[in-house]
Amino acid sequence: MPEYSSDQITVTYDPEVCVHAGNCVTQLPAVFDLKKDPWIDPSGATVDEVEATVNACPSGALKSHRAS
Ligand code: SF4
Repeated sequence: MPEYSSDQITVTYDPEVCVHAGNCVTQLPAVFDLKKDPWIDPSGATVDEVEATVNACPSGALKSHRAS
């Protein structure tokens, strides 16, 4: 499973589960941008913003955990 990390949070993405609803790229384009590689940059917003967007993913394809 691909992982994308900043100092504060790691986001994982399961492409098999994603329904391509586009919520993530609409809600937080500074972090989720399909034109970039890697397409998820967790350092592009606050941890709270990243977490809120991950939690709003309708399919559960996105998960996150804060660095301990
Ligand atoms: S919000 Fe979730 S289901 Fe929608 S495009 Fe992003 S990863 Fe896929």
